[in-house]
Amino acid sequence: MTVESVFPRLEALLPHVQKPIQYVGGELNSTVKDWDACDVRWALMYPDAYEVGLPNQGTMILYEVLNEREGVLAERTYSVWPDLEALMREHGVPQFTVDAHRPVAAFDVFGLSFSTELGYTNMLTALDLAGIPLEAKDRTVDHPVVLAGGHAAFNPEPIADFIDAAVIGDGEQAVLDITEIVRAWKAEGRPGGRDELLLRLAKTGGVYIPRFYDVEYLPDGRIGRVVPNRPGVPWRVSKHTVMDLDEWPYPKQPLVPLAETVHERMSVEIFRGCTRGCRFCQAGMITRPVRERSITGIGEMVEKGLKATGFEEVGLLSLSSADHSEIADITKGLADRYAEDKVGLSLPSTRVDAFNIDLANELSRNGRRSGLTFAPEGGSERIRKVINKMVSEEDLINTVGAAYGNGWRQVKLYFMCGLPTETDEDVLQIGTMAKNVIAKGREVTGTNDIRCTVSIGGFVPKPHTPFQWAPQLSAEATDERLAKLRDSIRGDRKFGKNIGFRYHDGKPGIVEGLLSRGDRRIGAVIRAVYEDGGRFDGWREYFSYDRWMACAEKGLAGTGVDVDWYTTRERTYEEVLPWDHLDSGLDKDWLWEDWQDALEEVEVEDCRWTPCFDCGVCPQMDTTIQIGPTGKKLLPLTVVNS
Ligand code: SF4
Repeated sequence: MTVESVFPRLEALLPHVQKPIQYVGGELNSTVKDWDACDVRWALMYPDAYEVGLPNQGTMILYEVLNEREGVLAERTYSVWPDLEALMREHGVPQFTVDAHRPVAAFDVFGLSFSTELGYTNMLTALDLAGIPLEAKDRTVDHPVVLAGGHAAFNPEPIADFIDAAVIGDGEQAVLDITEIVRAWKAEGRPGGRDELLLRLAKTGGVYIPRFYDVEYLPDGRIGRVVPNRPGVPWRVSKHTVMDLDEWPYPKQPLVPLAETVHERMSVEIFRGCTRGCRFCQAGMITRPVRERSITGIGEMVEKGLKATGFEEVGLLSLSSADHSEIADITKGLADRYAEDKVGLSLPSTRVDAFNIDLANELSRNGRRSGLTFAPEGGSERIRKVINKMVSEEDLINTVGAAYGNGWRQVKLYFMCGLPTETDEDVLQIGTMAKNVIAKGREVTGTNDIRCTVSIGGFVPKPHTPFQWAPQLSAEATDERLAKLRDSIRGDRKFGKNIGFRYHDGKPGIVEGLLSRGDRRIGAVIRAVYEDGGRFDGWREYFSYDRWMACAEKGLAGTGVDVDWYTTRERTYEEVLPWDHLDSGLDKDWLWEDWQDALEEVEVEDCRWTPCFDCGVCPQMDTTIQIGPTGKKLLPLTVVNS
C-alpha cells in the first residue's frame, strides 16, 4: 500500500498560518526513506511546537538510530499551532510528518517523547488530527501502536487510557527491540491482531501496556492494588539502561532547524545520570547510575557533528556537566582544537561546587563571556540540607567572587519555592543571598554596576523521588510567599535596584503536580481539558488554570478525590502509589528513608565518590557507576597549517 504525501493539500493552507516554514521539512540531515522498502515505520513526536521539539535530543537520537536500520523508517511530527489546527480540521488534512508529509495514522508505531506532563493535551490533539481514536480500547489492528517515552512517562497512569504502551528509561536499544517484535508479528500476518502484538511487547518485561493491568481502589480513594489481568504479563515493568554510551554516539548527524528554535547549537551528551542525590530532582533519580562518555568519544562526536551541521557552538549536555570526571581535559582539548574556528563551548547545566574559574575561562576562550547561571535551589542553609543540595552560601559567594574578578558581570541564580518544610524565612533568604552576591561583586570589582537575577519556580513533587510523598504547597501560599520576597527585595535601598526578580505564579505548578502524581482517574480530566480547547499547556499564553480546575471538578466528580487530594496531601508509607508497578530501580524503602532524612535535615553523599549507600539501582538493574578517568587526552591535535 503506497501512502501519499498530504503536502499538496497542506501547502494551500500554509500562506494563512504563522511561521509556515516549521511545517515544510527538508532540514539538513533529515532523512526520507522509501516507504515500500521498509516493513516497520515509526512516526516520532515531541508533543510541542517545532521550535521546542526539533532540538530535543531524545527524539533526534531515536530518529537516527531507527533510520540507520535496514528496512526501518522513522519520520518526525510536531504539534501544530492552533491556527493550522483549525485549517487542517476545516480542510480534512490529517496530522502529518514533516519529513515526507505522510499521515501519522499510516505508521506502525506512533512514539511520543514526553519531557513534561504539560504535553499530554497536545498528544490528544495529534491523535485526533491523525484520525486515531483517542482511547486505546477503540483502536483496531489498522491503527499504530501509540507508545509513550521520556521522563514524564515514568508515571504514565494519567494517560493510561490514551496510550497503548510506555517505555521507561533509555530508548536507544528499546526502540530496536520493539521494532523486531513488530516486524516479526507483521511478517507472520498479524496473528491475534492488536492484542497479540501488545502481549508480545508486554512479555519482554520492558514495555508497559496499561490495559493489561487493573487498578483497584480503596473506599477512601487510595489505590488498593494494581494487578496484571492476563497470564504472562509481569507484575512490574523495568526501566531500560544503556550502559556503554560510547557504543551509541548519537546524534551523529544532528538536525539543523529551518526555523528559529530554542537552541541554535549542536549538543553532545557527555554523560547520563547523576548521583548527587538532590531529593527534588526526578531526572537525577530516574537516570541512575552515572555513565560517562569517554573523552575520545566526545571529541569524535564534536568533530563529526560540527562537520555535519556547520554550527558554531557546542553544548556539552548532561544533568550537571561540570561533574564529568575529565571535564577539565575535555574543555581544554576542545577549546584548543577549535580555537581557530571560534567555536564556542557551553555547559548548559553546572553546579556551583563543581564550577571553577579555569573551567569558565576555557569555556569562554573562543567566544563571548556571557552571564553565569547557578542553581542553589534553596535560599537558606537549612532548606538546602532538606533537599540535599550540599552547597554552602560560602561556596557560592566565593565562586561568584572569583567569576566577577575574572570579568563576568552577570550572575543568574535559580531557586524553588514550596520545598518540603519550607517557611517564609527560608524564601526570604533568597533575597539575602542575592544581596551578598552583589556585595561580593562590588568588593571584587570596585564598581557598583553589578547585577544578580534571581529566577524562582514552584516546586512540584515528582514520582520516583524521595519527595514523592510530600505535600505540595498550594498556589495561593506559593504566591503569597513570593510576594513577600518581592516586597523585601524591592524595599531594599542599597541592593534592590540591582536584583532582577523573575518568578512564575503557583498555578501552573498545581496542574503539573496533578498530572505528575495522578492516577488513571486523571485521564478524564485531561480529556475534558482537551475537548474544552486546552492546547500547549506549557505555554503561558495558552495555559488556563481555570479551565483545568473546572474540568477537574467535572472529571473527578463521584470519585471522592479532588485536585487537593492529588497535590497538597501528604502520602503515608503504606500507600500504594500509582507508579509503584513501574520499576525505576530505586528501592522504595530507600526512598522512604531518604524522605525521613530530608525531614531531619540529614544529608547524603554522592555515591560516585563514596561507598554505595544502597539506593537499589545498581543491583536491581545490573548496572554500575561508570566514571573515568580514562587517562586519555582529546589531543593530539590535527595539525592545522596556516
Ligand atoms: S546502587 Fe549504590 S552505587 Fe548504584 S546508584 Fe545507588 S547508591 Fe549509587
